[in-house]
Amino acid sequence: MFKRSSSISLNQRTPRRKIMMWLLFAAVVLLIAVGAVAWWVFRPAEFVTSGRVRRLQGWIYDASLFPDWGIEMGQRCGDAPMLFPTTGFIGVEYGDSFRPGHNHSGFDIFSPAGEENITPIIAAYDGYLTREADWFSTVIIQHPEFTQEYPELAQGETLWTYYTHMGSTDGTMSFVSDEFPAGTYNKFVEAGTLLGFQGRWSGTPDSPTGLHLHFSIVKSTADGGFDDETDYRNTYDPVAFLGVERNSEGVLICPSSE
Ligand SMILES: [Zn+2]
Repeated sequence: MFKRSSSISLNQRTPRRKIMMWLLFAAVVLLIAVGAVAWWVFRPAEFVTSGRVRRLQGWIYDASLFPDWGIEMGQRCGDAPMLFPTTGFIGVEYGDSFRPGHNHSGFDIFSPAGEENITPIIAAYDGYLTREADWFSTVIIQHPEFTQEYPELAQGETLWTYYTHMGSTDGTMSFVSDEFPAGTYNKFVEAGTLLGFQGRWSGTPDSPTGLHLHFSIVKSTADGGFDDETDYRNTYDPVAFLGVERNSEGVLICPSSE
């Protein structure tokens, strides 16, 4: 008798325990959901950048999955002053930070091609090209006329556009056009002139970059030379110069290509 009545009272308690368990479970799910939303709203800037890293990984894995992200070389987005300098996806933007105290000084434009030395790079605007004697994968172009045409964007000074990573992964082959051998100074080029091809040379043979062009808009020094573009404070955000706009996914695209 005792055993029987005990088992009945246990059976009576079980539904209440089940309900409590479900309530607890629901509360945990709700907490996680609220936490996730709060994280999304208040997440620090580095994690916005890491969202860009995920997109970039997707693009490098298979660019054809993201046909809306690419911009064609030579395109003038909207009424932008400069031509888009190569074909690809703006995977790393101006100001992005991947290590404390360092902000990216321009755009990294990643080719969908998958292979080096086939995606052309062109001058974004008329100007005078320099390739220093020890520059393997880089050219820079001074744009004196830009200052007259677009005084507000140039803020009254002479600007330069900078193009790099035009070299093979192992550092043995430069992809800069033969028209511009190392030691070229102030050679006039029109907007659209072929400068070279995208490569993966990073400056160190052991750490190739993804296949891309690093493009930046560089300020002048007091004596009229180009400033150190590795410090982003010596550069401008290329957004207004290239006329790109952010789409609903947060990707910078050419608005006229939508
Ligand atoms: Zn870069």
